[in-house]
Amino acid sequence: MNCSNCGSRISTLKCEYCGTLNAASPQQKAILSEHGKKRANLVEKLKTIEKMKMPESIKQKKVEVIQKQIIELDNHKLD
Ligand SMILES: [Zn+2]
Repeated sequence: MNCSNCGSRISTLKCEYCGTLNAASPQQKAILSEHGKKRANLVEKLKTIEKMKMPESIKQKKVEVIQKQIIELDNHKLD
């Protein structure tokens, strides 16, 4: 989406360029809520893995995979 104030391409409601807090459309609200749920799930998974007993190298790999998924989510919020 684009910022309603300066027109910059933005991926979060708050514009990184001018700081305007843009209003979310119903569709975007749905995306954000879905995104929040997915993210919460991934964070939970991460916590679970950290508590699990497994070789450190395997744990590290699992953690990396989930961290990547979280970053992906954060990067594609409102596309
Ligand atoms: Zn802006």
